[in-house]
Amino acid sequence: MADKDTIEIVLNGIGASPGICIGKAYLVDKEGVDVVEKYFIDKKNLKKEIKRFKSAVKSAKDEVQAIIKGTHEELRQHAYILETHMVLLKDKMLYGKTIKTIEKEQVNAEWALKKVVSTLKSMFQNITDPYLGERASDIVHVSDIIMRNLVGAEAVNISEIRKRVILVAHDLSPAETTQIQLEKIMGFVTDRGGKASHTGIIARTLELPAVLGLEYATGIIKNDDLIIVDGNAGIVIVNPTEKSLVEFEEHKIRYEEYRAAVARGSHLAAETTDGFRLHVMGNIELPEEVVSVIDYGGDGIGLYRTEFQYLNRSDFPKEGELFDKYRDVVEVMAPKPVTIRTLDINGDKAISPNSECDEINPALGLRAIRYCLQNPDVFRTQLRAILRAAAFGNVRLLIPMISSCDEIFETKRILNEAADSLDKEGIAFNRDIKIGIMIEIPSAVIMADVMAQAVDFFSIGTNDLIQYSLAIDRGNNKVASLFNPLHPAIIRSVKHVADVARDKGIKVAMCGEMASDPINMPILLGIGIDELSMNPQSIPAVKSIIRSMKLKDARLFIKDVLKKSSSTEIVQLVRDTYGEILPDKLYYEG
Ligand code: PEP
Ligand code: MG
Repeated sequence: MADKDTIEIVLNGIGASPGICIGKAYLVDKEGVDVVEKYFIDKKNLKKEIKRFKSAVKSAKDEVQAIIKGTHEELRQHAYILETHMVLLKDKMLYGKTIKTIEKEQVNAEWALKKVVSTLKSMFQNITDPYLGERASDIVHVSDIIMRNLVGAEAVNISEIRKRVILVAHDLSPAETTQIQLEKIMGFVTDRGGKASHTGIIARTLELPAVLGLEYATGIIKNDDLIIVDGNAGIVIVNPTEKSLVEFEEHKIRYEEYRAAVARGSHLAAETTDGFRLHVMGNIELPEEVVSVIDYGGDGIGLYRTEFQYLNRSDFPKEGELFDKYRDVVEVMAPKPVTIRTLDINGDKAISPNSECDEINPALGLRAIRYCLQNPDVFRTQLRAILRAAAFGNVRLLIPMISSCDEIFETKRILNEAADSLDKEGIAFNRDIKIGIMIEIPSAVIMADVMAQAVDFFSIGTNDLIQYSLAIDRGNNKVASLFNPLHPAIIRSVKHVADVARDKGIKVAMCGEMASDPINMPILLGIGIDELSMNPQSIPAVKSIIRSMKLKDARLFIKDVLKKSSSTEIVQLVRDTYGEILPDKLYYEG
């Protein structure tokens, strides 16, 4: 509860992963800034140490400059504080004195900076002029930025957190989120990111309540502040009052009761009241998550994102390493299908081994299948591993970011080569697997009728389809509110793809985040999607709502949806028609 010196602050962001948690904040970015160790530097290494300090200041300047540039119109008037920070970064008292201290006392840059800052702080704090007093906090802010750049990413080691906390960070990279230990982290809150960002996806996968895109959370929340994170409503309450605590404890209990109720039915088939069966599958990033898919009643794996095995390392994984992981997943799921998607690196998941990642616009760059076709050795290694794993169960191959038919043909050619080489080497494999493509680029929607003749199934990736169709960066919180699966253009695109698939006699799945939100079910059922794939924890709620719907009604309903011209009208129509069975009504209103 808030003590009498603190006031409750409510921050609005994007509810990226459902659930409510209440606990102490742990600031990831500040870690390593407060605790500074002193060590001595050899005379011969002093120049290097000063260079290290200078380059941290340079990065800090770039950082502040970027914040100034990106400041919202309405916050422009506050940008002058950041301009002051820019000046302070070059200030002799801070910059010059730190360099002198490193030289004179032969100490590490962090220690020198800390010493200079504390002298300056006390100098300013002894001045009674409130304006000058404020400069002390500016110095602390600025030195924090330099310090963060000095200590670098190594200082943020999420896996070493020892207490149960809620992570508060400017941003969390996929590499960081994969270090999260579930028994320590209750939820997370970030300044950046949106629902379809990988941080959001991982939060849902880990079943941690998360609110992202808060912009200034790391500037407002302090270490050890008590906070409430409501991932359903997208709000964070800092220093809650007694009243808020009681209220959110109640929401939390009701939400958990709802989750428990849907979980009880999670192993029943997702069959509508008039007997139509939809297949509800799980998305996984790591082989270990297979257990969650099974526990939550998934009918298989609809999307196995394979890129995580390539991240956070300096070399590429070997065929045997990949094969072992794939086989584990395939064997555990057999005879249920496992849809292995080939490497979708770069974009927002950069790999480290090459410098090609340095692109101005990575989302439109050398990503996914484009990267694989330009690096056929890397691709062939993965395809061989997939073909080998296919001998152990039910494997489907899924190709991401297809934008032209040529990419499909080229992929098939390399796949054949991989199969031939395995054959020659006498290694066991299975060539008889279904090949599908992700429909996530508008050109693939337009070419769906032609592409359908070259593949066995489609899987609609709405995270990217929305990004590319509506020109909205999926990771940019400034436009996150525009990232809308119920935009009429998206509904029409999805319907077009489903109609084409039906016409050409192939199956159509959806594995983007649109597939996991119960509010979208009446529309997806009405459109005629055959299979949905989502983060495992969403499976029970989706199955539950499908079981309470009638296919016949949904088919009629979609006709009304198509008459609407805006997503607001569409949401309203869904709420008016299906409100009684939507989960948020159930847990907020009891
Ligand atoms: C998508 O784009 O919808 C998708 C499922 O793929 P990813 O989120 O991995 O880009
Ligand atoms: Mg995608």
